[in-house]
Amino acid sequence: MDLAIPLHAFIPSLNSVAVLMTYFLYLATAGSILPGKVVKGVVLQDGTRLRYRCNVGLLLLVLLVALLGIGAQMDFVSPTVISDRGFELLSTTLMFGFLVTWVLFVTGCRSHNQGSSLKPHVTGNLLHDWWFGIQLNPQFMGIDLKFFFVRAGMMGWLLINLSVLAKSFQNGTLSQSMILYQLFCGLYILDYFVHEEYMTSTWDIIAERLGFMLVFGDLVWIPFTFSIQGWWLLHNKVELTTAAVVANCLVFLIGYLVFRGANRQKHIFKKNPKAHIWGKPPKVIGGKLLASGYWGVARHCNYLGDLLLALSFSLPCGISSPVPYFYPIYLLILLIWRERRDEVRCAEKYREIWAEYCRLVPWRILPYAY
Ligand code: NDP
Repeated sequence: MDLAIPLHAFIPSLNSVAVLMTYFLYLATAGSILPGKVVKGVVLQDGTRLRYRCNVGLLLLVLLVALLGIGAQMDFVSPTVISDRGFELLSTTLMFGFLVTWVLFVTGCRSHNQGSSLKPHVTGNLLHDWWFGIQLNPQFMGIDLKFFFVRAGMMGWLLINLSVLAKSFQNGTLSQSMILYQLFCGLYILDYFVHEEYMTSTWDIIAERLGFMLVFGDLVWIPFTFSIQGWWLLHNKVELTTAAVVANCLVFLIGYLVFRGANRQKHIFKKNPKAHIWGKPPKVIGGKLLASGYWGVARHCNYLGDLLLALSFSLPCGISSPVPYFYPIYLLILLIWRERRDEVRCAEKYREIWAEYCRLVPWRILPYAY
């Protein structure tokens, strides 16, 4: 694989700016017009509850892919535009991310000085406030920016993958590995949009402020690094045995069942703490923490499922190079760090109830190992 990427490939052109702005404009306008279920978020630290237009994401995605398909048929847009201009789009998105973070930083400082009810949090450490953010749920023209950015990132990931797929068709190099990778990621992203509502109770939405870390994570990291395997497969040929394909499908399936099952159980529990888990009344600690189902196996079984899924996205690339394993390795580090931070947050919030939960469920992510 030729890793020598010319520097000029990263210089944003008017074209890449136009592609990115059209994409955001589409998400903002169509996202406000299309019908979608309005979901109330969890009660935040300041007692407020935000409203999210959920399940619009799936409609937005299907409509966008259909529009792009029609555009490609009419030679109005090239299906390989993203794979041809990948580095340019990456640097343009990065610059946009910097710009947004500075706007958020300045408006956050201003609303802090004005004592805004959105409870901005300024520590005084410039770098920290810029990196971790000041505002918990900044809004722009009625749009929740955090929710918007993660939607843009997840959709961007699929668009990159589809463009890479089109490129491999064009090159005549479409392989079994590429099909497996595309299939697994496609199902994962579609599933995200079907269950977009579950996002409203995740750490990013309820606890993380919107600073460079999250803006970069959603807009740049998710679409551009999660798709590394696809880019890699464009330039590398892999022969998979039938046993390897079956094992790969099993890793995906088990990962999906654990990931979706655990997240669903918590979401259902938060809405109705009496709802049955695995056909039985739930074991509840202090009326607040679920200790049955996946949440009785390990305190973050949902992370285990996600890690297995991440692994299944890389296995189609074989084991000849560590490059396609960037995503699962990064996710392992991120989720261990995230789990540690969540543990501190929950220990502070739930005190003796959390201590009791830890006694009952000693494993953090992987039973008998961690
Ligand atoms: P969780 O969905 O696990 O949310 C953690 C919160 O859930 C806690 O702060 C607490 O919040 C509540 N909680 C924890 N334990 C219990 C319990 N036993 N009973 C009831 N409530 C509990 O974490 P994340 O938001 O980090 O992750 C959500 C999903 O997103 C995961 O599947 C993760 O793998 C995935 N993810 C993927 C990433 C990627 O890059 N691919 C990055 C980050 C996450 P409360 O105060 O509400 O009780």
